[in-house]
Amino acid sequence: MRFRFCPQCGAVLARGPVAGREREHCPGCGYVAFHNPAPVGLAVIEHQERLVLIRRTVAPLAGYWAPPSGYVELGESVPEAVVREAREECGLEIALQRLLGVWSHPEVNAVIVAYRARSVGGALAAGDDASEVALFAPGELPRQELPREPTATERWFLPLIDEVLRA
Ligand SMILES: [Zn+2]
Repeated sequence: MRFRFCPQCGAVLARGPVAGREREHCPGCGYVAFHNPAPVGLAVIEHQERLVLIRRTVAPLAGYWAPPSGYVELGESVPEAVVREAREECGLEIALQRLLGVWSHPEVNAVIVAYRARSVGGALAAGDDASEVALFAPGELPRQELPREPTATERWFLPLIDEVLRA
């Protein structure tokens, strides 16, 4: 994302070195446009001894099977966001068990924080951003190929899905 005008004072932004990097900044008020990736929480959920995947309806990887995930919102912690996303996307109440890891990529505007979790209630149902939900035995996970013209995010996210499901 690049800004043309200053969101604070409306002046045209300039581009030049600020704090060790080329950045858009405002000659009028001193505003600097820092571009920070947003945190995304993801849950690898065990339910009835299998893993819960949803079929995504939104980019990146629309139409692909993936664990429930979504952006953390202001007002909630990362673990709270993961629990909320699971409830919204697959209908299950979950308990987080352990952090699987944190993934980022210099070309992608997101940082993924993945947890292992188990279901503790609710009922399996495809919800927001999901056309289907299904259970997969760990040895029978779907094999998925990259789209013909993958974005940088998709090239990063698809192998990451594989990695977290096998972690
Ligand atoms: Zn300004």
